[in-house]
Amino acid sequence: METLSFEEKKKIVEETIEKYMKYLNPGLARLYKFANLTTVEWRGAGAKVFDVFGEAYIDCVGGFGVFNVGRNHPRVVARVMEQLQLLPLSSRTLFNKHQADLAEMLAQVTPGNLQYSFFCNSGAEAVEGALKLARMYTKRKKFVSALGGFHGKTFGALSVSGREVYKRPFEPLLPGTEQVPFNDLEAMEKAVDEDTAAVILEPIQGEGGVILPSPEYLQGVREICTKKGALLILDEVQTGLGRTGKMFACEHYGVVPDIMTLAKGLGGGVLPLGAFISTAEIWKVFEENPLMHSSTLGGNPLSCVAGIETLRVLQEEDMPAQAAEKGTYFLGRLKALQEEFPDIIREVRGLGLLIGMELFVEDAASLLAMEMAQRKVLVAYTLNNPKVIRFEPPLTITYEEIDVVLSTLYESLTGVRAIIQEIGA
Ligand code: PLP
Repeated sequence: METLSFEEKKKIVEETIEKYMKYLNPGLARLYKFANLTTVEWRGAGAKVFDVFGEAYIDCVGGFGVFNVGRNHPRVVARVMEQLQLLPLSSRTLFNKHQADLAEMLAQVTPGNLQYSFFCNSGAEAVEGALKLARMYTKRKKFVSALGGFHGKTFGALSVSGREVYKRPFEPLLPGTEQVPFNDLEAMEKAVDEDTAAVILEPIQGEGGVILPSPEYLQGVREICTKKGALLILDEVQTGLGRTGKMFACEHYGVVPDIMTLAKGLGGGVLPLGAFISTAEIWKVFEENPLMHSSTLGGNPLSCVAGIETLRVLQEEDMPAQAAEKGTYFLGRLKALQEEFPDIIREVRGLGLLIGMELFVEDAASLLAMEMAQRKVLVAYTLNNPKVIRFEPPLTITYEEIDVVLSTLYESLTGVRAIIQEIGA
């Protein structure tokens, strides 16, 4: 990049934006422009992303939970480069060592007796597979999930997600789905019946605005499912792999699901990789026809070696513990900030490095994200609750970087307060 002149770099930015407008997604292009994000990303390292001009941004969005081990972790990149030369994609007709190794590692690292994995390319695909497995095993039809929940945007995953605005234009969706309020055991008890195949929940709602379960909630849902013969699917696509201070968020609550979904951080922020994992007992139904559920590109060798190295890095660098410690520091400082801006910040909450800051006004959240972007810190609001700004940086973020985020946040909140006062005046 250093060989390109400033004019050439400027041209790259102009042309890219123009192509977004003309060929890709004009609405998104307008949104980025409105948010002062009028540059082109070029390179990543650790908790930072650099634009085409070499300007560094601290990334507190973290690809919505993709960059747990940091961007371009050298070990993951090296392993992927090596595999790239050898065999990036599978023949699909011979055994593949890397898929087998990754499946074994997931069985070892996940709680309870989760054992068999299916690999795919995204979170939504993992959810689709989990829903199908639940139906096939239970021979039941219905799914219960939570309002505000997010499981992806393919038809099945969308059907069990909990925000109408993303669902209505695509109706009719999957029949027999019902959403109940999160953290309401009574409503869950009422909704789950003898035709419920599964309850699907995020242990902590991410896109719903970082909503933590009450201490007894997940255990209560587990008991309801067991009592009524429904499966419990925990969607750890965003909360998994160290993000919340433990390898999986369900471990905070001592709850083991029947099926777990994973994606995002599993490919180490280098490649797309999703998975759903279940017990030997449940998986038996797939034995009748080994091609009952399949994916041409899912579980390809390149993604699998990225997954293997990512799991090793997470364990060897004790990233869940890093997330717990840094999260406690970050959350504490944010709570102190809330006291200085009680007119803007309603609540700060989170676990590990999955933190949400709820503002009183939706527009203030987008204003704040814009102010932060101008000061080169990337944050975003949560998809199903736009009043909540998320902080979801790579778990490798340094304390110095957290301090920069906090001082930037202070300046940006001051800016937002001035704008609100000006509009109000
Ligand atoms: N499940 C959860 C909990 C998610 O947060 C997401 C994405 O944000 C998904 C599923 C869908 O993942 P993907 O965008 O990879 O399809």
